[in-house]
Amino acid sequence: MPTFAEARTLILENVSTLGSESVEILDALDRVIAEDVLAPQNMPSYDSSAMDGYAVRESDCREPSKLRLTGYVPAGGEATTPVEPGCAVKIMTGAPIPAFCDAIVPIEETTETDGYVLIKAKVKHHQHMRFTGEDVKRGEVAIPSGTIIRPPEISMLATCNRASARVYRKPTVAILSTGDELVEVGERLAAGKVINSNAYSLAASIKEIGAIPVILGIARDDRESHREKMTEGLRADVLITSAGVSTGDRDLVRDVLSELGARELFWKVDVKPGGPMAFRLKDGKPVFCLPGNPVATMITFEEFVRPALLKMLGRKRVFRKFVQAVFQGEIRNRPGKIKFVRVHLEHHEGTIFAYSAGDQNTGMLKAMLNADGLAMIPADRTLLSSGDPVDVHVLSSELEMQES
Ligand code: AMP
Ligand code: MG
Repeated sequence: MPTFAEARTLILENVSTLGSESVEILDALDRVIAEDVLAPQNMPSYDSSAMDGYAVRESDCREPSKLRLTGYVPAGGEATTPVEPGCAVKIMTGAPIPAFCDAIVPIEETTETDGYVLIKAKVKHHQHMRFTGEDVKRGEVAIPSGTIIRPPEISMLATCNRASARVYRKPTVAILSTGDELVEVGERLAAGKVINSNAYSLAASIKEIGAIPVILGIARDDRESHREKMTEGLRADVLITSAGVSTGDRDLVRDVLSELGARELFWKVDVKPGGPMAFRLKDGKPVFCLPGNPVATMITFEEFVRPALLKMLGRKRVFRKFVQAVFQGEIRNRPGKIKFVRVHLEHHEGTIFAYSAGDQNTGMLKAMLNADGLAMIPADRTLLSSGDPVDVHVLSSELEMQES
């Protein structure tokens, strides 16, 4: 049985990106660019004024000095009048710099009367001028391959005059629920039946990171049904199954996957909840067999599947941010397994405190809703008490900065 760290490494070693596709730049948002974007021209592409003001010769500006106004250049205009000695040209932000100008004096530092401008402040060489290529030079890599595209990168793509960009392809992720007890959302919940919520929690988590969920429905607890649904699922880039992966006599997931030629890399990990999960490869395609208990399904997705999907999407940082928190309360652990505890986090004067988010029984969904993170009790610890430091995987990025 691999350790938690070994299992994660094994999974990540066996997944990779799926090639790239060209998309319109707005659709590249939150995706990973799969090409080096080169600047097709200098940025800025011409010398320009950074202020509304006057184009002058610095050597003329001994304060106070009076310069004769000989021209005007608006943004988008042409700088046709050179700045002659003792003269100034009125200029707007973004307008091209006229010949012989070596400084811009902002309007606020001047007074204009009767065709003259009075300079009231000290003028420095090249002040308030923007120079060709000072941001990015023509041919320079403006966005390196592997970058996550956020609004600033979209701005750079637009500035590079790009209508489209190559990004890593989104994996399609098939989700298969298994179990005779399952009914679909909206169906009547007869005695002994359970709603297929896992399909939705998995689809939501897949969607959240920008991959494409494909809900296959429910495989019943017989081989034929499993075979049929799994064959369909293996057409996606990734297959995730839930339930039927333990040692119950109707747990058929592993058996049928073996029949279909999906090689098992591991079964069972030293974590709780989620211990009975398995990881397989069918012709290089990853297959994750998650336990059926909704909390275990979510936690194993979080810790094992999410990093793999992020890697497939081209991300380099695939793990959640983790913080060291001070635990408040008391939680026991069965030695030999890492225990994930759903915790609520609070910041107080620079310290992060972790509190149990509710009943930690794996059957209890509510504590998952209240959780800001998953605290990890190491396999060799039997007890976590108030004041103990604990590593927490932060689940929600919005909460990272919250102070209370
Ligand atoms: P199993 O691994 O088949 O023994 O299932 C473990 C537990 O998870 C049982 O209580 C199931 O009813 C529950 N379960 C299995 N699949 C789902 C699902 N798709 N949605 C919600 N609960 C499920
Ligand atoms: Mg079952």
